[in-house]
Amino acid sequence: MLALAEDRFLTDCRKQLITLHEILMQELSRAVQDQKSQTGLLVEIRQCEEAIKRIDNGHFGRCKVCSEAIELNRLKAEPTVTTCLSCAADRHNS
Ligand SMILES: [Zn+2]
Repeated sequence: MLALAEDRFLTDCRKQLITLHEILMQELSRAVQDQKSQTGLLVEIRQCEEAIKRIDNGHFGRCKVCSEAIELNRLKAEPTVTTCLSCAADRHNS
């Protein structure tokens, strides 16, 4: 049961990321004159691609700092996050 729910969650995240990727690519093609927003968009596109890669290789949802599972709500809101809530908070404080 758990595995099934997890599968569906990953499929949803993947869809969300692919949609986000398409939107970012469109924005990028419209931002040809704007170096600054281009750079920002390229970073977001890369984060998107990396998140999709992590879903495909089974590393999605693990915090890159402490290797604990990232909160599901956090992933739902922002599938490109790479740290759990407490590690993200640590980084902001330091
Ligand atoms: Zn962490």
